Amino acid sequence: MNISKSKELFSKAQNFIPGGVNSPVRAFRAVGGEPLFIKKADGAYLYDEDGNKFIELINSWGPMLLGHNHPMVKEAVINAMEDGTSFGAPTAREVEIAELIVSMVPSIEKVRMVNSGTEATMSAIRVARGFTGRDKFIKMEGHYHGHGDSFLIAAGSGAMTMGDPDSPGVTKGTAKDTLIALFNNLETVEELVAANPGEIAALILEPVPGNMGLCLPKQGYLQGLRDICTREGIILIFDEVMTGFRLAKGGAQEVFGVTPDMTTLGKIIGGGMPVGAYGGRREIMEFVSPAGPVYQAGTLSGNPIAMAAGLTMLKHLNSNPAVYDELNHIGSTLADGIKSINKELGFDYTVNRIGSMYSLFFTSEEVYDFETAKTADTVLFGKYFQAMLKRGVYLAPSQFESLFLSTALKDELIDQILSAHKEAMVEILGL
Ligand code: PMP
Repeated sequence: MNISKSKELFSKAQNFIPGGVNSPVRAFRAVGGEPLFIKKADGAYLYDEDGNKFIELINSWGPMLLGHNHPMVKEAVINAMEDGTSFGAPTAREVEIAELIVSMVPSIEKVRMVNSGTEATMSAIRVARGFTGRDKFIKMEGHYHGHGDSFLIAAGSGAMTMGDPDSPGVTKGTAKDTLIALFNNLETVEELVAANPGEIAALILEPVPGNMGLCLPKQGYLQGLRDICTREGIILIFDEVMTGFRLAKGGAQEVFGVTPDMTTLGKIIGGGMPVGAYGGRREIMEFVSPAGPVYQAGTLSGNPIAMAAGLTMLKHLNSNPAVYDELNHIGSTLADGIKSINKELGFDYTVNRIGSMYSLFFTSEEVYDFETAKTADTVLFGKYFQAMLKRGVYLAPSQFESLFLSTALKDELIDQILSAHKEAMVEILGL
């Protein structure tokens, strides 16, 4: 595969951008080789600067649920641009999207738009602290909530891949208020609650974590958290930046039937534009400025072009429930296909899947938390990544990420991916 233009760009980029990239995992450090510079994307395909074409399974890390460059979203963005790119004043679209989000997501009675998932989680924690008058909060080991200081403790995603979960620059003063529990383990939450009576403002988690690879909550676990939080007056926050509008139109909270007090959103909500949101129970959200005392603001928040893209996306999902059946079909065909090829080749590597998210872990252990995720052979994953790339399939460049499928992945493309998978496994395992 000729990647000379990408190589040239990466070499130049490293002179001007830290590590040559604007977000760490993009640098391919966890899988070896050099990153591809992408020129364009359409439907299920990515095209790099050298003209190579890939079927891709990341979809911009989640937002492109309907595939890239969807005509409907593109048209909405172009139309919105005709009227100007930013006003810094309220718009009709913001009211429309807020009303729609409230109708789609069970826990949300009021919502505030921001510009990224990071902003959403940072703001939600501040509001939970303001509302309860408490300082500490619980997060789960291996979960990722963006790069806000207080979340960069035992964090997943890039922080996990880089092997440096506790980032320099996060002060001890900040870190001391972040308490760490283990996912799928209610005992560890009970212990923290007992050791910090009346001091915990919030418990935040990814209800279906995707940032240590995809793990599923055990039966009764989310309800168990709900019960503890209700009993202790702790604000339960579901970080649905990945799962929101992806697992169902109401996210993981709809699928598992557990309603948190607050929810953070991102990715799909912007249809590919930089958007995040946080929302929740009315009395909590009434604490947000200017309705209440907790300050949170943004020059570009509710940007008209971003809102046009997001609104088009959400309207489509709201009125086409069949999208979720389609995504589930795509996810199960692919994940089941991978499992049966592995079995045929004599390997029982773990595949975790829900709807259109999955991870293939290079371990035979059941993977349900940070510790079990770490049993995966990351060197073998790196070889698998390269072997798939060579065959025209672009995966997330780390073992500890979920893949995100789109409706653009038609059956014949799934067949191509499965053939590539079989050849790649034969190559890397030396069969
Ligand atoms: N929360 C979760 C669950 C995420 O997966 C991410 C990003 N992958 C974030 C928050 C942060 O979002 P952003 O990258 O838009 O800041």
